Formats: sequence, structure tokens, C-alpha cells
Amino acid sequence: MHDTTARTTARLERFTHDWLEPAVLRETRPLDVEAWTVGGEPVPFAEAVAADYAPFALGTPWGRPWDTTWFHVTGAVPAAWSGDAAPADTRVELVVDLGFTGAGPGFQAEGTAWTRDGRIIKAVEPRNQHVPLAAGQALDAEGRVDLYVEAAANPDVPGGAWTRPTPMGAWETSGPDPIYALRTMHVALVDETVWELLQDVRALHGLVRVLPATSPRAAEVLRALEDMLDAVDPDDVAGTAAAGRAALATALAAPATASAHRIHAVGHAHIDSAWLWPTRETVRKCARTFSNVLALMDSDPDVKFACSSAQQYSWVQEHYPELFERIRERVREGRFVPVGGMWVESDTNMPGGEALARQLVEGKRYFVEELGVEPKEVWLPDSFGYTAALPQLARLAGSDNFLTQKISWNDTNRMPHHTFWWEGIDGSRVFTHFPPVDTYNSDLSAEELARAEQQYAEKGRANTSLVPFGYGDGGGGPTREMVAAARRTRDLEGSPRVELSDSQSFFDAARAEYADPATWTGEMYLEYHRGTYTSQARTKRGNRRSEHLLREAELWAATAAVRTGADYPAERLRRLWRTVLLQQFHDILPGSSIAWVHREAERNYAEVARELEEVIGAALRALVGEGDRPVAVNAGPFARDGVAGLGATALDAARGAGTVAPVPDGDGWVLANDLVRVVVDGNGHVVSAVDRAGGREAILPGARANLLQLHRDVPNEWEAWDIDEHYRRSTTDLVDAAKIEVVDGASGPALRVLRELGSSRVEQDLALPTGGRGLRITTRVDWHERQKLLKLAFPLDVRAERATSEIQFGHVHRPTHVNTSWDHARFETVAHRWVHVGEPGFGVAVANDSTYGHDITRTRTDDATDAQGARGTTVRLSLLRAPMFPDPDADQGEHELTCELVVGAGIGDAVHAGYALNLPERVVAGDHGVEPLVAVDDDAVVVEAVKLAEDGSGDVVVRLYESRGGRARARVTPAFEHTGVEVTDLLERPLAAPAGTPGRDGDAVVLELTPFQVVTLRVRR
Ligand SMILES: [Zn+2]
Repeated sequence: MHDTTARTTARLERFTHDWLEPAVLRETRPLDVEAWTVGGEPVPFAEAVAADYAPFALGTPWGRPWDTTWFHVTGAVPAAWSGDAAPADTRVELVVDLGFTGAGPGFQAEGTAWTRDGRIIKAVEPRNQHVPLAAGQALDAEGRVDLYVEAAANPDVPGGAWTRPTPMGAWETSGPDPIYALRTMHVALVDETVWELLQDVRALHGLVRVLPATSPRAAEVLRALEDMLDAVDPDDVAGTAAAGRAALATALAAPATASAHRIHAVGHAHIDSAWLWPTRETVRKCARTFSNVLALMDSDPDVKFACSSAQQYSWVQEHYPELFERIRERVREGRFVPVGGMWVESDTNMPGGEALARQLVEGKRYFVEELGVEPKEVWLPDSFGYTAALPQLARLAGSDNFLTQKISWNDTNRMPHHTFWWEGIDGSRVFTHFPPVDTYNSDLSAEELARAEQQYAEKGRANTSLVPFGYGDGGGGPTREMVAAARRTRDLEGSPRVELSDSQSFFDAARAEYADPATWTGEMYLEYHRGTYTSQARTKRGNRRSEHLLREAELWAATAAVRTGADYPAERLRRLWRTVLLQQFHDILPGSSIAWVHREAERNYAEVARELEEVIGAALRALVGEGDRPVAVNAGPFARDGVAGLGATALDAARGAGTVAPVPDGDGWVLANDLVRVVVDGNGHVVSAVDRAGGREAILPGARANLLQLHRDVPNEWEAWDIDEHYRRSTTDLVDAAKIEVVDGASGPALRVLRELGSSRVEQDLALPTGGRGLRITTRVDWHERQKLLKLAFPLDVRAERATSEIQFGHVHRPTHVNTSWDHARFETVAHRWVHVGEPGFGVAVANDSTYGHDITRTRTDDATDAQGARGTTVRLSLLRAPMFPDPDADQGEHELTCELVVGAGIGDAVHAGYALNLPERVVAGDHGVEPLVAVDDDAVVVEAVKLAEDGSGDVVVRLYESRGGRARARVTPAFEHTGVEVTDLLERPLAAPAGTPGRDGDAVVLELTPFQVVTLRVRR
């Protein structure tokens, strides 16, 4: 036979575009449109319908960026379209085109259709533009259309240029001009047979594109499509569509091969809680997407939808109670399926231990209390890498499965598995799936299904994967076209077998066919988006400060409740926690959102801090009594300066200066106490730091520590997200100091160093405490650079094969060498409060109060010979960036960042330093000290949280963990009347068979902890 593939394909494409697609709508009639523009932030329906509407013609511009226009749409449905007169196989719909652009759904204008009595019908979005017209809803008693469309003029923020600075990220900068023009507001008669034919054609045409051209199946399908083209008359598509479908029936009926990959297609909509839009718009995105899903469920009984993020349900519950009740009904039916169990799909690199636990606690509590469902998987398709602490926390929250997608974005290495055990730092593991389709926004096209089958790495041992389908990032969700694609690929030769399913069914099936998959141990580092540990430093500082203030507030409020009977502000704390948890969303804390989002986050953190200071102040006043003695308060887990951890001590008199006086020495200065001696040169660099006990020098010979380094930081794409490796080859050392002087700092004398660079200014205070081994460096920056990365370097005379970085409830080790592609790609890493490098018997820690990004590399001395390799290790903190997209003013202005160089530190010292720096001592006026609620006798076992139980029982909950990666036997002694102690999960539910089951020894509970084990104790009162 002659090969006509190319000509037949071209004919098919033209036929589909020019005749088949237009024939879906048999007829359309314009409706009457009136409009009212809000001219500000969104308003509730009741306010909108009461406004004054004016006639609005199609083609008229509407919508300045971020504004809202309400359209009132009325008109008759032609009599010949409805009731007994309606032609066979047709339906009537409203079709809306708000002036949609080529950008994807969720990245431009979106609308919500409302009935005249305020019920949401469905959204209108690009590629999903219809509104069903049902009697009593969009139609009035006479059968006339009468509804409202709330149109959001959300701008396409990147506008196709994902690195260009844009003014669209804030209301004030986005300009006054309308950016859309209303194109269509029609009632339409839909030809259902033509629509079905279009879906048949798309499914089979897709198969032809993905099958080898030489395969018999591709040829068979192409011939069937050719027969269809011959059978359908372009002049009468409606009249011949059935014949066209008949020509395709045999090809669509051929069953899948026995070895075809099995796909669980799970309806989904990834809705970023903030990103290129503010949270207020996400509230509306949720209403739009969820109403789309409910409308789809109304028309199709098999559709299920996986929906994560308690926060998003909570928004809908608050703002759209009627819609929420409809969702709740579908949840009861098991069709609208809560997944994930977290408050938001958070970042997992940066949230602290307790905060990451609370993502699960708050999320699960919400799902159980409001929806009666407890999700059993953690669902984080899009977060930027996954902490090795997560498996344990998931398990302790009662979840045993994990789903991610993002790790397919690695720029260097491919993850070897798609279904595997993921094992965390403590040895806990979760059954993990990483969908081989490589998208969480699938449209179930033949290309995507084939990709899932081809890439699936467990072939030969297992054959099942999950495909999340539905428009996402900005929401939208599944469409009827996607469901039609699933139906046609249920059992189709040449395609994977696609089943409409849900997450739990997938995990059950995957575990059944592959009970013992391979294991991935430790973090799942994302080889991409390495700038997200640093961008938007004020947001990061807000997170770190909020986490520690929340700890203090819960600790002192719980202590006051037990010791003095004070009220425990449970609801207030919960509300504040939820704000902090929301801002750990994977585009807020990582710094990858528009200006609007980050300015709002900064305001929210300020308000959180103000409220938490009130809570702390009230609790401490109740605890220390009336008086004017200075009372030193220690919220940290360890005793400090004579004050017990978690307690307070009344002092006889105010303490003197807490830091040593810098002594001039040649060009420079010496700061010394009994433990360490630090030499600072005339330019403010640390050139020596000696551990006096052993005489060991910590600074690499000839090197300068506390060296600020400025790098050109222009990634190829994704500015706020990425640091590209080439940044290292453009470095300016900020060597010269403009001024050095001794000043009286807040806690005593300090050496102040001033530097100027361009229009920016850096002021550092170096101070050594009288009794500690940590040189504290507070860096204040007035930052006006663009596309620059500011690092603070400590070249250390320590030969470390690996660096240790704190994560949640423990730490990870990462190689300092670049032997493998995996090591090489890990050139920027995340740490929480400290990093540590060491040799046997000597180590150095660098602690910080709000920095997350680090790089730790092997370093040769300047005078090394060819024969000498790296003797030293350089620890650098990534202090500030200045990306210009999506927030063109990211990081501009004032910053304060503190770090501490701890000389002669083991891992335990690093843990101490991290807590001490982040939980500074408070001194309040009062009458007496405070006995800690609980004492722990093993320094390796750290109390992370003390609070009252979530259930309002008044029980005290203590969360603690083994912090050094070893075994520990700890006596935990509650110092108050109690009736019993039990080990619980994170949600404070008794654990059936808890590890380290407590024994009793008098008043003490004896715990046997394994490395990095987290234990939650409920002390019953
Ligand atoms: Zn996302």
C-alpha cells in the first residue's frame, strides 16, 4: 500500500479544527448583558447583586488587573431547543468567553457563575467555558436565563516571559487599564453526538501520535480515522457524525494488551494557596475549581476528586457555606476525597520540627472534625524537595503512604524509582509513589499516558502508576473532556489501561502488586530551585521567629495554666498557628510568589509576633508574680546561665555585661574569654579563633572568616527559585571595612564593622559572650542590589568528609566532596538552626537565627602545594538574594541576620547553640522564678514542645526527640500533679504499641529512645 500517513494526518487536523470543533455548538444566541465593576477587592454575592448594573456590549474591555466585574446575564432560550421540541441528542448550555488569552487556566481571567439567589453553579475558564442551564438554577420560572458571572481580572503575571520583572504582582503597580474584552455570552445548543465524535477522534489521533509508525495498530487506527473522514460530510457534520462514530467503533473496541501499564487516573486540581495571585484570590479559585468538580460529578457518577489542604476547605467553609455543604455531601459519598492530611501543601525544607508536625496535626484534625475522614497519605506533588524527617512525622500522624511529583524536575540526576519505600533519618519508612507521568496536571492525553508507561521504572516487578488529572497550579480541575479520554482508554489497544480511581485505591493496588519495593534513604533533594532557601529573607525570618514565639507562647501559657490556673488561649494559639502554617505553603516560605504575597506575609508575621508577645507577656506575668526583681526566663530546652530549661529564675540583681570587651591588638582586635580567643583583623575579618583548652585553631591558615562575598546571581530561568551553579564563578570579596569601632551593644561591648558596596550598606556587630564559645555576628544590611547573592564565609581548618545540617527533629549528613553527579548537583543546601563540620575530637558549628541556605565545600589553603588537597572546609551562609521575578523588588531594604561561630563544638553543642540563638533569654520584672513543668535528665533528649492537649482536657503534652542520632535512656519527670503518662501519636491519640514504651521510676517516666526518635507524651491531670 502507498504510505499516506502524512496526508491523512494533515487532513484529519484540518477537519478537526475547521469542521468538527465548530460543529459541537449547533446554534448560539447572544444574551443580554449588564455589568458592574467592583473597583477594588472582591465583595460577597449579596453586595454585588444589589449594585447598579449598566448595559454591557460584547467586545467591550473590562477588568483592570486584580479587579472584579460582575455580569448579569438574561435572555430567552429558543423554544425550539427545549422541552419536547428539543432536537435529539442535544443539550442547552451557556457559553462564556471573558476574553480568554492563550495562557492556561488559572493564569488569567476566570469567572464564577451564580444563580440569582446566590448559589454557585460552576466556573468559566479557558478550556472549560460552559455553564449548565438547569431549571430553577440558571433559568427562572419562565425558562429564561437569569444568572450572574463574577469575573476576576487576574492578570497573566509572567505574560510568557518568566524572567522579566513585572508590575502585575501588586494592585498598586499593575496599572489602571482593562486587560480583557468580553467575547462571548451566548446560550448554545450543543450537539452531543458531534461532541462524542470529537472525543473519539482526539483519543485515536493521540494514539497514532504515540505509537511507532511501523506498528500494525497505528496503521489500523489511522485507516479507521480515514474512514471516519470519508463518512462525515463537512457540510452536514451533525447529520453524519453518527456515521463517523461508527467508522471508529472497531478501533475503539480493540482491547488493551495483557502487559499494558495500569493507570489510576485521579481527578485533581493543584491550587497553589498563593503564588502569582494573593491568598484572597485562592479563596475564589477554590470555589471555582470545587464547583467545577461538583458540576462534573452531577453529570458523571464515576468521577472522583482528590483534594488536599485543610486550609482550602476551611476557606470555602467560611466564605461559601452553601458550596461547602455540597462538598461535604460528596465527601460522605466517597467521591470528593480529602487527601494529604496537611494544613497546606507546605514546603518541607524549611518548616521547623514542631511546625511540620503541626501541618499534619492541624490538617488531620480539620479533616476528621469537619469532614469525618482521615487521609492516610501525605500528598505533596509540588514541594521543592523533601526532608528526611518526613517519613517519621507521617507515620506518627497515622499516614503510611506518600506521593510526590516534583523530584522529576531534577536538573542532573533521575530518581531511580517510581514506587519505593522512603526511609527517614530515624529509620521510619513510608510507601511512596512518584508518578512517572511527570505532571500533577495531566489532561490524560495519549502523550501523557504513554509517558507514564514508558518512564515507569519498576517495570517487570510492578505495573501500576497514578496519574493526577485536572488543570492545576492556578486551579481549574478535571473537565468532561478528560473524563471522556479516560473512558476511551479504559481498555484500548496501544494505550495503558486507565481507570478512574482515587489515591487510596491506587496505594492499595500498588502495595498488593509490589509489597517490597526498593528503598530510598534520607532526603529527597530537589536538584533545582536552590534559591528558595534564601529568596525573600524577611518572609523566612518571619517564619523562624514565629515558630520560636509559638513555642514560647505555648510553653508559658501551658505552664501558667498548670501552675496558676490561668486560662489557656487555645483558640488564639490555633488561629496563630494556622497563619504560620499557611505561610509555609510551597510558594510563600520559599520566596517564589509575587510582591503582594510577600508584603502580606510580612504584615501577617508582624501581627503574629504582636499577638504572641501578648500571650507570652500575660502568661509570664501570671507566673512570676508582682514585683520588681529581674526574673530570667529560659524557654529553651537546656539550662542556661543558671536558669533551668523551660523555667525561670529570679535574680538578686540585674546581670552585668554579657560580652567581653574587644582589646586592640596591632591593626586589629582580640576578643577572648576562658574558652576561646578570637582575633579580628583591621578589616573586621576573623583571622584566628582558638579553642583555648586544646589550643586548636579553627580558622584556615591565611584565610579570612566572616568574609562577605557578593556573587552575580542570574539564573537561566525561575529567578526567585533558582541559584545556578555558574554563580560561583563571579565573586567579589567585600574586603575593606569603612569603619570599625567598639560599641555598647544590647548585651555588652561589641566590635562594629561597617562596609559599603554600591548603594548598599552592611553593618556587623561581633561579640563574644563572657562565658560561651560562640562568637556572635549580627549582620544588618540595607540592601539595594539586584540579581546578587550575598554569602558569609567561614573557611575552617577542619578536614570534614561530610557536613552535618540540622533538619526537623535531627540532622542529616551530606558529603563535602563532589565525587558523584548527585554530590555535585547538591551545591546549595538547606539547614535549620546550625551546621557543623568536624574531625574526631574537634569541630566547629555555625548557628543562625533566620538563614536556611548554605554551601559547605572542601577548601585548599592558599599555599598548598600540588601534592596537597583540601585541608579545610568552608562553611558559607546564603544571607540575601535579589531576584527580579516574580517580585521585582524582592529583598530590597533592611535586614538583620545573626549567626554564631562556635569553636570547639560537638553535635550536642551545635544543638545547644541553635536553641540558644533562636530563643534568647527574656528578663521580666517579677517576684519569683518558675519551676519547669517537666525535667529531662539526658542532654541528648530535647523537649521541642510543651502545650496543653488539643482536646481541651487540660492534659499536658510534651513532645521530645533524640537529637544526636544515638540511643538514649531518659528520665522525664513531670513536676505537677498528674494521674498518668502515655505515649501518643502527633494527634495526641494513644499509640497501640509505642516504641520506647515508658517505664516508671517514682515520679519519672523512663524512655528508651532510638536515633532521632520523636516521642509525644500526654501527661494526664
Ligand atoms: Zn504548587
